[in-house]
Amino acid sequence: MHAFYSDHYVLPLPQGHRFPMAKYRMLRDRVAQELPQVQMLEAPRASDGELALAHHPAYIRQIADGSIQVLQPQAMREIGFPWSDAMVERSRRSAGATVAAVRAAMGGQGIAANMAGGTHHATADKGGGFCVFNDAAVAARVAQAEWGRAHGPHRKPLKVAVVDLDVHQGNGTAQIFQSDASVFTLSLHGEKNFPFRKEVSDLDVHLPDGCGDDAYMEALETALDQLERRFEPGLVIYLAGADPFEGDRLGRLKLTFDGLQARDRRVFDWAWQRRLPLAFAMAGGYGVQIEQTVQVQINTYTVAVEYARRWRAMPA
Ligand SMILES: [Zn+2]
Repeated sequence: MHAFYSDHYVLPLPQGHRFPMAKYRMLRDRVAQELPQVQMLEAPRASDGELALAHHPAYIRQIADGSIQVLQPQAMREIGFPWSDAMVERSRRSAGATVAAVRAAMGGQGIAANMAGGTHHATADKGGGFCVFNDAAVAARVAQAEWGRAHGPHRKPLKVAVVDLDVHQGNGTAQIFQSDASVFTLSLHGEKNFPFRKEVSDLDVHLPDGCGDDAYMEALETALDQLERRFEPGLVIYLAGADPFEGDRLGRLKLTFDGLQARDRRVFDWAWQRRLPLAFAMAGGYGVQIEQTVQVQINTYTVAVEYARRWRAMPA
């Protein structure tokens, strides 16, 4: 299984910044030690043209040249990272990683990963909540551009389901695809959690504070049933957020390690049963102990490699 990383572009953060940047490197180290089935590759840089499939050109330019700091200082504050060349490079690579994962999954591997990404709070013309570019949105549109015509006897556009199980609503993704019937946005998230002004996804499931494993799985089953009834995807992009974990600082839910792994298994299995290529990204995770966030993510990879093996064993 291919997994694309971008953590070596070190983003300079002020002392005491609350974003746990170290988790990405910790994840890569543990995957290297424990999961030799995963081939880790440097993420390519998303080009302006790729980014422009989901973002306004003026926004891309302002981020790229830093003029956003002057033109929209409030927008920069909402992103939550100080602007730097490294921030731009890393954001491009993180979007490029999901693009590369989608290409690998669609190109016959069935499953591939972005070891960062899931930056679902970025809208077409604005970042927010540690998100600069919306990697899932960019990758969905790239897949449609590259595979749309090859799919189906009637040259229908490739339909993409974004299954967003990060604890925060995928408001940016919802906004970008608001009037696009070819991408289905599903978001299961904490009702009382950020963002406080929510957008409308194709399917939103609002979970109460303290939601545990059983209630979560029930909600997920119902959501996947609905998705199935309303939409026929040819590709799944999965945001496997680690922040519904009970030990998360920001999550407000109470999922256990086992509950989260059952969640991942359900999504991978759902896609596998339908032979749908799936690309996944890590999205959020803010463990009180950051090692626990990384453990949730390792568990996701452990399930993912099982399903990647099934794809490999499938006759071409
Ligand atoms: Zn989150």
